Amino acid sequence: MTETQSKTSVTTAIQPDFATLPRRAEAGPGNLIGLPRDRMREALIETGVTEKQANMRVGQIWSWIYQRGVTEFDQMTTLAKGLRTDLAARFTIARPEIVTRQVSRDGTRKYLLRIAGGHEVEAVYIPEEDRGTLCVSSQVGCTLSCTFCHTGTQKLVRNLTPSEIVGQVMVARDDLGEWPVAGERPPEKRLLSNVVLMGMGEPLYNTDNVRDAMKIVMDGEGLSISRRRITLSTSGVVPEIPRAGAEIGTLLAISLHATTDEVRDTLVPINRKWPIAALMDACRAYPRLSNAERITFEYVMLKGVNDTDADAKRLVQLIAGIPAKINLIPFNPWPGAVHERSDWERIEAFAEIVNRAGYASPVRTPRGEDILAACGQLKSATERARKSRAQIATETGLGRC
Ligand code: SAH
Ligand code: SF4
Repeated sequence: MTETQSKTSVTTAIQPDFATLPRRAEAGPGNLIGLPRDRMREALIETGVTEKQANMRVGQIWSWIYQRGVTEFDQMTTLAKGLRTDLAARFTIARPEIVTRQVSRDGTRKYLLRIAGGHEVEAVYIPEEDRGTLCVSSQVGCTLSCTFCHTGTQKLVRNLTPSEIVGQVMVARDDLGEWPVAGERPPEKRLLSNVVLMGMGEPLYNTDNVRDAMKIVMDGEGLSISRRRITLSTSGVVPEIPRAGAEIGTLLAISLHATTDEVRDTLVPINRKWPIAALMDACRAYPRLSNAERITFEYVMLKGVNDTDADAKRLVQLIAGIPAKINLIPFNPWPGAVHERSDWERIEAFAEIVNRAGYASPVRTPRGEDILAACGQLKSATERARKSRAQIATETGLGRC
């Protein structure tokens, strides 16, 4: 029996999806944000638009919603007044509601957003010299309980709808004032140029909705952010990785964090179901891999847990042959966390080994720490109740975390 088989067979107790509420219908009655083109077309025909005109109307409405950022049907001046009234009676163009907006000393902006059902999620905007990245959530909370991650301690979990995922990008564009002004040329450099699915939740436990949302984000008539400027980060939902490659096609990031199954089983409990070897196979098979489209391996630096020279050497061996970059993330602490950040000398020594092996390994500078906006610190304020140890143990099949 291979190591992979034996690992899988002893861990059938892990059903990390069991706490996820069922996939819901679109948030809010008739919200047009997040509707795929064909569904919007049907909705318009039901409103009385003729079959012949439907495609053109979809194009016009998409352009108003996603390229102009309008919030009212009355602003859609290329549509006849009667149609605007009919649309307003049936549909909304609703974004998630901003509950709080915090701006860090370093310019990072954290939005706490309220979505259907009164749930809350966070999105974080990170400005840099050459780009502006929005870190987007895919679920309320996360079922996976990685030991170093704040989001994983949140009790309640539900999948976000496409509308709620696209809506996060639109809220940030609203706040950055980045919709084109009539008569003015759009700026060369966009404030919001990149998207990372690295907020709350496991995107590949919500693949369909993430796919539908990203299609709108990537569409040239949608939010128009190119495929290669979007990165989907997964903790390693191996069977969904080929589907992500085929149906979404964004860049991929893997939350690796350990170089042996023994350590990864503890840090990233999903590893008990899909161990490192299976994860690496899925990475090697990811489509379009090249120097221009590398997989990012994320590695959180935890003092005394995964940060030795031997770990660095094993890491390099594990990813041999995969066009890759390694992102070393100094652990970001949160109240109640059991881990500590590795010392800077240790992080530098680790990075040096990885660099010498020929891999770019930027150490991710923690951003927005003063507002708890850094990786793994996200957790909505109203849902801070920590999962009990017993509950985490049941969900992960681990005795303790
Ligand atoms: N669920 C997905 C995406 C969200 S997490 C995933 O796990 O990949 C985004 C990244 O932040 C992941 O690499 C995650 O492991 C990392 N992370 C989580 N908690 C962290 C913490 N406290 N400090 C630093 N990075 C953390
Ligand atoms: Fe979930 Fe990712 Fe946090 Fe793990 S690191 S608990 S998969 S959000």
